[in-house]
Amino acid sequence: MSGRERLMRTDAGRIAAEHVSIELGQGAQAFEAVQDVSLTVEPGEFVCILGPSGCGKSTLLGALAGHITPSKGGLAVDDTPIAGPHPDRGIVFQHHTLFPWKSIRENVSFGPKMLGFKKAERRRMADEILDLVGLSDFSDRYPRQLSGGMQQRVELARVLVNRPRLLLMDEPFSALDALTRMRMQELLLDIWERIRTTILFVTHDIDEALFLADRIVVMTARPGRILEEIVVPFSRPRATEIVALPEFGKLKRHCLDLLRAEHPSAPLPRLTPLGL
Ligand code: ADP
Ligand code: MG
Repeated sequence: MSGRERLMRTDAGRIAAEHVSIELGQGAQAFEAVQDVSLTVEPGEFVCILGPSGCGKSTLLGALAGHITPSKGGLAVDDTPIAGPHPDRGIVFQHHTLFPWKSIRENVSFGPKMLGFKKAERRRMADEILDLVGLSDFSDRYPRQLSGGMQQRVELARVLVNRPRLLLMDEPFSALDALTRMRMQELLLDIWERIRTTILFVTHDIDEALFLADRIVVMTARPGRILEEIVVPFSRPRATEIVALPEFGKLKRHCLDLLRAEHPSAPLPRLTPLGL
């Protein structure tokens, strides 16, 4: 089997959410954060969840990761109900979770170590994935010696080394500057073209969702429900130039209208001209 074939997996990673509701808080403070969400994501598909802040995006992702149990409905990956966290479902957050005292290679090979892989094998696995994210030359460095974008690349490698059938990403590039963020989006698409794992990517950034996704699931304000699903028509591989296409502008406008309706802002104060 070639390295490329080993990295590709298109057969697994189907998400099926059926009438999922998720309650948070205790007793009198309990409330529904996610309400009646039904969603199917096919193996190898790239889906973005777009919604206003606080609408339950992270909660839904947390349930898919196995950290939160839905109060109603069914959540399954490849027909197996989710019963807890599993390395097959990797999650990447806005801030990295790397061990500061371990080298980059040790951080990436930690997952395989926990799964019982021998030292030489996990080193090979880590080096292969570090190559995939373009960090081969940094494997002996420590997290603090890398830039924010590079740390997020290691974080991605830390998850990908487990060959997850599902990659869950919760606003992973939100803390990065605009240029690094764009570079990371391109890198992620490039990696996804090669590994074809299913990606569910949460963002509140319309441009990011339109650039990355096959399909965008727009959520309502709290409690989060699915408002609309939008098929993104741009061909792949995508280049950042697509932002200049009229269709991009049209879809962006549409998403903006949907989000605005969910997030009515308070009227702006009337400005009084100076000196009057
Ligand atoms: P999003 O990721 O879309 O910004 P979250 O899923 O983080 O939204 O949160 C949904 C809602 O639940 C928010 O209003 C948030 O304040 C609230 N919330 C999140 N976690 C908890 C918790 N552990 N206990 C109580 N409320 C929470
Ligand atoms: Mg969130």
